[in-house]
Amino acid sequence: MKVLVIGGGAREHALCRSLSQDPAVSELHCAPGNAGIAQAATVHPVDQLDGAAVAALAQRLAADLVVVGPEAPLVAGVADAVRAAGIPVFGPSGRAALLEGSKAFAKDVMAGAGVPTARAYVCTTPAEAAEALDAFGAPYVVKDDGLAAGKGVVVTSDRDAALAHAAACDQVVIEEYLDGPEVSLFAITDGETVLPLVPAQDFKRALDGDEGPNTGGMGAYSPLPWAPEGLVQEVLDTVLQPTVDELRRRGTPFSGLLYAGLALTSRGTRVIEFNARFGDPETQVVLARLETPLAGVLLAAAQGTLDTLEPLRWHDGAAVTVVLASEGYPADPRTGDVIEGLAEADAADGTVFVLHAGTRADEEGRVLTAGGRVLSVTAVGTDLAEARTRAYAGVSRIAFKGAQHRTDIARGAAGQ
Ligand code: AMP
Repeated sequence: MKVLVIGGGAREHALCRSLSQDPAVSELHCAPGNAGIAQAATVHPVDQLDGAAVAALAQRLAADLVVVGPEAPLVAGVADAVRAAGIPVFGPSGRAALLEGSKAFAKDVMAGAGVPTARAYVCTTPAEAAEALDAFGAPYVVKDDGLAAGKGVVVTSDRDAALAHAAACDQVVIEEYLDGPEVSLFAITDGETVLPLVPAQDFKRALDGDEGPNTGGMGAYSPLPWAPEGLVQEVLDTVLQPTVDELRRRGTPFSGLLYAGLALTSRGTRVIEFNARFGDPETQVVLARLETPLAGVLLAAAQGTLDTLEPLRWHDGAAVTVVLASEGYPADPRTGDVIEGLAEADAADGTVFVLHAGTRADEEGRVLTAGGRVLSVTAVGTDLAEARTRAYAGVSRIAFKGAQHRTDIARGAAGQ
């Protein structure tokens, strides 16, 4: 099977790593990729938002499967362009990807499907926003309706700050505050059959103890020893399957990766948000635990044959990933610094591996920082404590100017 992956972050590096380990994959390509992906796949400098260019590349490569990683190309309809060229694609249509691309659309789908979520108002004027804020009271939750790379949400008890965020966006969703721990649950679907993966938890804020601003994600771990028994089945029955059924009913069937961000509140499980693609950094730990070769699963989703697949197999044990970000991230990341210690951080036995996000190689073959999130140091172990210790040992071997990371990823869950 020839596979083309679209994207260039640590999520796509994780996808490429798993695909490269699948004996069914004979050729692996990625566009645009990054310095780390270039070691596992042939990279192509193609604009990932340009559906025609991506479809042309897939045709030129005679790809058997295209896997679209990030949300922006999905919302831009890149999967539609590839599908129209007759090539199987893992990823929803642009219309179905609105589940992530518009929080108002997601709320409407959830209402139609009877999926439990925060009560919410869609607001376009300052007066509407003020009214909605006062209806719920503090803490206030204000979400930009459109895509914002995980940075469009403001949770604050400062009413003026909440109003200011609403004013800075065209349309916002203002909703009730959900307390309780958060869980990310991914499911692979072909539009009918829904195959849940293992739950993970990510750390969205910069700085230890969640003291910093929201980011794309600073680390993740799986499994969740504290999660209630039966959680996956409950979310499959009350969230994932009804949502997939509702989208099919509306004539916008969703195939690809459905990501439910959940809050386990005192009043029950609630959806915080849906994403239309693998989450970053949770993918790094979920795929590290997946034993079933990945390509066949993604192809079955693309071809509508998930119901014929054997149940997924998972490795025993745990996985932890720690994100190394550049100085100034998320507000104003600095780039162009040389990264040292990459080879030293990888363990020869594969228990620790460095996934690249914002990196590029220069003419001399050095690897430089090229984005806010730079690396995702991932480790597996017999339990979370071992995986965590290994991940941080990997982190300690890497250096670049201004590097920052959280030191408390999975600490509580690992009992450390
Ligand atoms: P989202 O982009 O919707 O996942 O929001 C980013 C983060 O904001 C979530 O992971 C939560 O930590 C927080 N958040 C979003 N919605 C709510 C809510 N209704 N109540 C409390 N926290 C929320």
